[in-house]
Amino acid sequence: MSSTSVTAPQLPGPADDALVARLTAEIAELEALSRFSVRGIAERAERVAAAAEGPELAELRLRAQLVGADMARCRGAHAEAGRIAQDISRQAVEEGRPFLRARSAYVLAAIFQELGDSATALEHAVDAVDLLDDGVPPELRIDHSLRLADCLGQHGDTSASLRYADVLALTHALGDGRRELVVLNNWAYIETLLGHFDEALPIAQQLEARSAELGEPLSVGRLDTLGRVLIGLDRMADAEAVLQPGLSPEALDSSTDGDAGADFLLTLAEVRRRLGRLAEARQALDDCVARCDRHGLTAIRVRARQEQAELHAAHGDHRAAFAEHKLFHQQLMELQSARRDARARTVQAMYETSEARRQSRRYRELSLRDPLTGLYNRRHIDEQLARFLGPGSLPAGALSVALVDLDHFKRINDSFGHDVGDAVLRRMADPLQAAVPADGARALGGSFAARMGGEEFLLVLIDTPPRQAAALAEDLRTAIAGHPWSDVTGDLPVTASIGVATVSGTVDLTPATLLSRADALLYRAKAQGRDRVITDAG
Ligand code: GH3
Ligand code: MG
Ligand code: MG
Repeated sequence: MSSTSVTAPQLPGPADDALVARLTAEIAELEALSRFSVRGIAERAERVAAAAEGPELAELRLRAQLVGADMARCRGAHAEAGRIAQDISRQAVEEGRPFLRARSAYVLAAIFQELGDSATALEHAVDAVDLLDDGVPPELRIDHSLRLADCLGQHGDTSASLRYADVLALTHALGDGRRELVVLNNWAYIETLLGHFDEALPIAQQLEARSAELGEPLSVGRLDTLGRVLIGLDRMADAEAVLQPGLSPEALDSSTDGDAGADFLLTLAEVRRRLGRLAEARQALDDCVARCDRHGLTAIRVRARQEQAELHAAHGDHRAAFAEHKLFHQQLMELQSARRDARARTVQAMYETSEARRQSRRYRELSLRDPLTGLYNRRHIDEQLARFLGPGSLPAGALSVALVDLDHFKRINDSFGHDVGDAVLRRMADPLQAAVPADGARALGGSFAARMGGEEFLLVLIDTPPRQAAALAEDLRTAIAGHPWSDVTGDLPVTASIGVATVSGTVDLTPATLLSRADALLYRAKAQGRDRVITDAG
């Protein structure tokens, strides 16, 4: 009787179409919403990621994790966000998932922007646009193109303007007022950053007009953008008028980390000083500083010192102005070096954890190997056969398996001991590996050799029709019988019997059925005298 025992491999459950449809719709909604600070997105993304289990839903799960990473970035957890995005990006490259590559590049661009590394941010932003194909929702195309425009602008590239014009047209085509306002604000802001105040003005005016039409009041951040454009044009009275609606406490406290309010007050202080209303300027500056201290806003606090120095000078107190100016410079240097350190630490943290992930991948690879022979183990066989056969499997051509069992192996153990038996099994790895058809460096289409257990081995031959599989098995049989075993087993020959079963892509067959077919053929080879190959082709 054959010693071969075949147990049914674990099969994936039938794909639940309704679940997939629901998760797909929800993740698409979250991707589109993630551009705005809407509450609860991170929690929803986490739930979607948890629900999208299994290899078939990997794309959905990773998309949800990326939304989570983007939300982590928004709350300032740059290292965590960067690690997730970096890992998903690498996985997307390995597995050929262009949409995920584009999405992870989109998140990475914002992370590097916020870390102040505009060159790296720009590289990612270019990928985020290049890798999108025509079928993506227009909202995402707008978001990705806008980020590219922002990164170009922050990098000092004047082609940003053309990009903004394109993105603005996309928002018009879509009739998306909310995104239109974001584009107008960012565009106006970047133009002032580039010193293009004349170009910034009509954009700022459009922002003001469209906000009114759409009934969306301007946030302090957007008012600040308008104010800076007018300051740049030396229109101080207009700037003050434009800033007016931001003076209510509700408006000032609308952003959670308080920085928009502090920025706004600093702009207001400058406007009032330049209008000669020094007491009111002092008031706005004191409010700004209090807000910085309350929220720990170091960068704005440092900039406030510069305004403080200007204010002293306006009062004619040049000694105080000079002292404050020195303090400003010193703290600016400290701030810049602290930022560089923080950036280095964050980037390091991103890669450190990626290294841990690589490590865990190596462990996973090890868990799929048989320690004695180094060949793949039963677990890998079950996983791979489930991929190629059974419900929801990949379309495949003819798939063959060759089940290889050593003849009278017990005799070797009995004659020379278990260690010699082990040495024979270890050496079997060479002829088995050599039998796997190779296409350059890689196994052809995922073919591989494995140890089933005991003295039984399996060749899994992807895209291999019966005749080719039979020839391959016959070569393997002669290689085993012809191997110079004498230094291990003396005069005792080492041979194997092989059963070869094939399934064509069109026939529905489970892994368990295919393996038991091969087992039955192997049994016939044993019964007919061993050291032979029997195939189901007759
Ligand atoms: P047949 O030609 O019918 O296959 O005969 P056989 O002796 O090869 O088959 P049988 O199933 O009777 O014996 C298989 C033996 O393989 C029994 C078991 O002790 C031995 N074996 C299983 N795993 C290992 C192992 O890891 N190392 C060694 N040395 N022996 C093993
Ligand atoms: Mg056996
Ligand atoms: Mg045997």
